[in-house]
Amino acid sequence: MTAKIIDGKAIARKLRAEYHGRVDVLRSRHNVTPALAVILVGDNPASQSYVRNKIAGCKEVGIRSELIELPTTVGETELLDHIERLNNDASIHGILVQLPLPAHIKVSSVLERISVEKDVDGFHLYNMGGLVTGNTVFSPCTPYGVQKILEHENIPVEGRNVVVVGASNIVGKPTALMLMQQDATVVICHKKTVDLGNFTLLADILVVAAGVPNLIVPQIVKTGAVVIDVGFNRLPDGRIVGDVDFDGVKEKASYITPVPGGVGQMTVTMLLHNTILSAERAASATTSPFRRRA
Ligand code: NAP
Repeated sequence: MTAKIIDGKAIARKLRAEYHGRVDVLRSRHNVTPALAVILVGDNPASQSYVRNKIAGCKEVGIRSELIELPTTVGETELLDHIERLNNDASIHGILVQLPLPAHIKVSSVLERISVEKDVDGFHLYNMGGLVTGNTVFSPCTPYGVQKILEHENIPVEGRNVVVVGASNIVGKPTALMLMQQDATVVICHKKTVDLGNFTLLADILVVAAGVPNLIVPQIVKTGAVVIDVGFNRLPDGRIVGDVDFDGVKEKASYITPVPGGVGQMTVTMLLHNTILSAERAASATTSPFRRRA
């Protein structure tokens, strides 16, 4: 069996065209331009590159972006003051603080200061907790991208065995919870899982987000499985690879995402989606689900 290679770029392009249309409607009917504020602390090249991609994505679909660059030495209070200002600015619909932050800043304090209604990254404790009850205001972008890929390819989730390799708070755990919400039977594996292959061989849908090149080889993949590779690793020779032995596993899987060109394209796309959704909520007469529940 040779897998269908899922073209994340094409899916992202299609969704972004739709989002552009939604931005046009917001402008023409409500005189609202969706806006995303991005706070970047320090000069980490990887963070700078992620932020550039996010801002370019905004431009592509017509979202206004505001970049706030702060030095590595910025104090936590000053950072929180910036967030507070953005929380109170009605023209801003999404606030994103690029991680990681310098060690002297407590990440949880920063993430929890962002208004839940503008938490377009979905990392606020409220949104995290909402994943358990299926009640998030915004879904976290990478897991949401995985979900959208499955939906786009018409891959059913209900009743299927899903194995998620990687248990981080931003990818593995939320992905598992979101797919469980869709009535999959979900197993989460992590570094201390004994005999990973015992679990991955059961997977109809295998989502891998460990950050370990070649962790998933064909011998531990079920024939016909759907393999979604979230991993993004730079090898010493400069090549970018995922966590899956792509050439080997594609001969055994039914669907597979490449790296690059798979999930990565979807993460920024879902950020754009969440920002537009936030602007739509602000523009509509009904307030956000968070307000309604409160
Ligand atoms: P992370 O915080 O380092 O978490 C990695 C997880 O994988 C941890 O739960 C870890 O287990 C587990 N793990 C590590 N080695 C393992 C092994 N040998 N077997 C089983 N589990 C193992 O990383 P992350 O932020 O979730 O990101 C994971 C990968 O996805 C990275 O390559 C990252 O670059 C990529 N990523 C891509 C996107 C995208 O848009 N494409 C977005 C975010 C992340 P423990 O908990 O036991 O340590």
